[in-house]
Amino acid sequence: MQTVATLAVLLTSLIACVRGGQEPYVMQREAMVREQIEARGVKDPRVLAALRRVARDRFVLSGSEAVAYQDSPLSIGHGQTISQPYIVAVMSEAAAIGPDDEVLEIGTGSAYQTAVLAELARTVYTIEIIPELATRAEALLRALGYGNVRTRLGDGYAGWPEHAPFHAIVVTAAPPDVPEALKQQLAVGGRMVVPVGTGDQELLVIERTADRFTQRRLMPVRFVPMVKGKL
Ligand code: SAH
Repeated sequence: MQTVATLAVLLTSLIACVRGGQEPYVMQREAMVREQIEARGVKDPRVLAALRRVARDRFVLSGSEAVAYQDSPLSIGHGQTISQPYIVAVMSEAAAIGPDDEVLEIGTGSAYQTAVLAELARTVYTIEIIPELATRAEALLRALGYGNVRTRLGDGYAGWPEHAPFHAIVVTAAPPDVPEALKQQLAVGGRMVVPVGTGDQELLVIERTADRFTQRRLMPVRFVPMVKGKL
């Protein structure tokens, strides 16, 4: 009788332990990657693994965790949005980031794309123009243990010349044209992924070769505008 009781206690604590240790939203994240991202043709295994690791529910506004894995952008306050998961995947794949790469991101926002880039790159330098978002992003990235991210409050049009050149530049707000300073901060062989245009926008991939820049269009997109800084 005593053995049965002991076994029952053991079993109960084992179940509690497994439950308590399990991260919420694992199933939703897996479904997001399979149904929204792999099903639409994103193939890079490192990008897919990064999206499986980063808990998107930590990057949305408090109270929105339950909708964090839906197939859409979401408000993060200040008139800004966390990008749709599929777009984050497409941009990360197009940036073709290797484990030794130094990456510049413009428009930290929620820092979700930043975290995905940090899973792929050696170092991520990320610039945000809205002070509250920059502060929140810095604290969140630190709390999640991303030691390879440097955040900065500032105007992304100027880039981050002290750390240039970058192997990849990912811009997550839309300028009217490709910013010249960012082109100049691309390493030879580097890639910039940028949504360009006012109103109708195109996601462009700019590559720098030894003697020129090439450009290809990926898809039509809709990002918040990249604002001219007053900072
Ligand atoms: N990658 C972010 C996207 C946020 S929306 C995410 O998925 O959460 C775009 C962000 O770009 C906003 O936070 C906005 O404040 C920022 N932004 C707009 N213009 C900027 C500029 N000139 N320099 C830096 N950040 C800018």
